Amino acid sequence: RAKQEGRGRLRFYEARMGVQVRERRRLEHDLRHAVERGQLRVVYQPQTRIDSGETVGFEALLRWHHPERGTVPPNLFIPISEETGSILGIGEWVLRETCREAASWEKPLRIAVNVSAVQLHAPGFSELVHEILFTTGLAPARLELEITETALIRDLPRALATLRRVKALGVRIAMDDFGTGYSSLSNLRAFPFDKIKIDASFTRAVDSSEQAATIVRTVLGLGRGLGLPVLAEGVETRGELAFLDAEACHEAQGYLFGRPAPIDTFRHLTTKAPRTAEDAA
Ligand code: C2E
Ligand code: MG
Ligand code: MG
Ligand code: MG
Repeated sequence: RAKQEGRGRLRFYEARMGVQVRERRRLEHDLRHAVERGQLRVVYQPQTRIDSGETVGFEALLRWHHPERGTVPPNLFIPISEETGSILGIGEWVLRETCREAASWEKPLRIAVNVSAVQLHAPGFSELVHEILFTTGLAPARLELEITETALIRDLPRALATLRRVKALGVRIAMDDFGTGYSSLSNLRAFPFDKIKIDASFTRAVDSSEQAATIVRTVLGLGRGLGLPVLAEGVETRGELAFLDAEACHEAQGYLFGRPAPIDTFRHLTTKAPRTAEDAA
């Protein structure tokens, strides 16, 4: 009897695994057509200078609106698209879309775009960036590519060569999710970064954990020593902001300043100050 029950349970698990595999196949398949079917959208999240409170740029974050599943989060579909290679088409679409968008703003704010390891290691990446800047007319210095440490370690020499070529175009490079990867310190020294982004898991804990506060202080000290500005991700509370301000962190990004949203939500930030009543008259 126990044996029978055991077998039943096993069959149940097998069936569930089968469903998961089929689900995944479907997602893989649907992802391949997401760009041409117009199911991808970019939302934008402000990046704010802490000392002055002004918006200095936006991070572009990808959303997939699936006709049946609704919005699929990037942490689910980006890894799948990296495995199947569809990230190449998707990543190119995101870059082109965001550079075109940013080039249309009145204010020359920065646009930060996430780049996956697969894109970075694909042949012709720097040429693609060059072509997109040329086609959209965006000033290279306004584009910042966000790269995680895990993206680098696959093939360090190759990643380094690509980043150097991209930087030679005048594009900026930010190290994303700093503190969550493997070999942070040696990578920081070897790679031509322009900014460090402290991962939200540290920011979130500065109020409650002395360890997290110490880690954030240490990264800020590291940034100072290396001459790199630091941005804290995931800032949600005034307490976190006060801490970062007191520790002379340069920039912040998080729900406190704005959730990722369609760019129209932030139109007041991308346009120049409105004309006075006299001008309008
Ligand atoms: P990331 O680049 O580290 O982006 C920051 C994530 O934190 C975003 O999640 C953002 O919505 C979220 N976030 C921002 N402020 C707060 C806050 O105050 N509290 C909390 N709890 N979360 C906050 P999202 O949009 O779900 O993106 C997740 C990850 O997916 C990104 O992490 C990035 O690694 C990846 N991703 C997103 N868009 C793209 C893309 O276009 N290309 C590639 N390759 N990866 C992307
Ligand atoms: Mg990012
Ligand atoms: Mg991050
Ligand atoms: Mg992340």
